[in-house]
Amino acid sequence: MLLLGAGGLGSAVAWALAGSGIARLGIVDDDTVALSNLHRQILYRVRDLGKAKVAQAAERLQQLYPALQIEIHAERLQTRESIAARASGYDLLIDGTDNFCSRFAANDAAVLDAIPLVHGAAIGLRGQLCFIPPGGQPCLRCLFDTPPPQEGSCRSEGVWGALVGEVGWLMALEASKWLRGVGEPLQGRLLTIDLESSRRRIVTWKVHPTCPVCQLASGSLT
Ligand SMILES: [Zn+2]
Repeated sequence: MLLLGAGGLGSAVAWALAGSGIARLGIVDDDTVALSNLHRQILYRVRDLGKAKVAQAAERLQQLYPALQIEIHAERLQTRESIAARASGYDLLIDGTDNFCSRFAANDAAVLDAIPLVHGAAIGLRGQLCFIPPGGQPCLRCLFDTPPPQEGSCRSEGVWGALVGEVGWLMALEASKWLRGVGEPLQGRLLTIDLESSRRRIVTWKVHPTCPVCQLASGSLT
């Protein structure tokens, strides 16, 4: 499987999946390790500061699980085309990025290039995750037609380290369920977690009639 983003979510997802016995993991990230990352990005240590995240993530995971085949890609992918090209040969895409541009691009690759996708996000004390099946129907753009107007980031709003751990672990479970054909995927269902009120909800949604990506996938928009 191919993991987009080796930050807080990505660290938890990669750790959990590596321990689950997967054979091959690709990791995409162009960032370097900063001191402010360490409370939530559990793959990294102080001695990794300033070094490329993908290289340090691979080193740590390889120490833990020597049999795991790891491929690293020190790059930022923010278009559907670049994500689809990099995902070629992988069975599943996992989005642990921190911005809607990348999330929408990953969604579009899932729908238009038929790549199954696990989506996750976390900010402050709120997190969410879902599964987009190959070909979409429904997809993230059916739910969010445009990025939220005041989209925060981990840098501007902060994020609790334990929250990305929880959401990341659940994303890894969702990926494992899909790969093993176990249970019911979060397809058309968004699991939201609000740790301030300790509430979890399932938000269901269907294909939006004006979703441009689903329309394109179904051939009604050219
Ligand atoms: Zn859609």
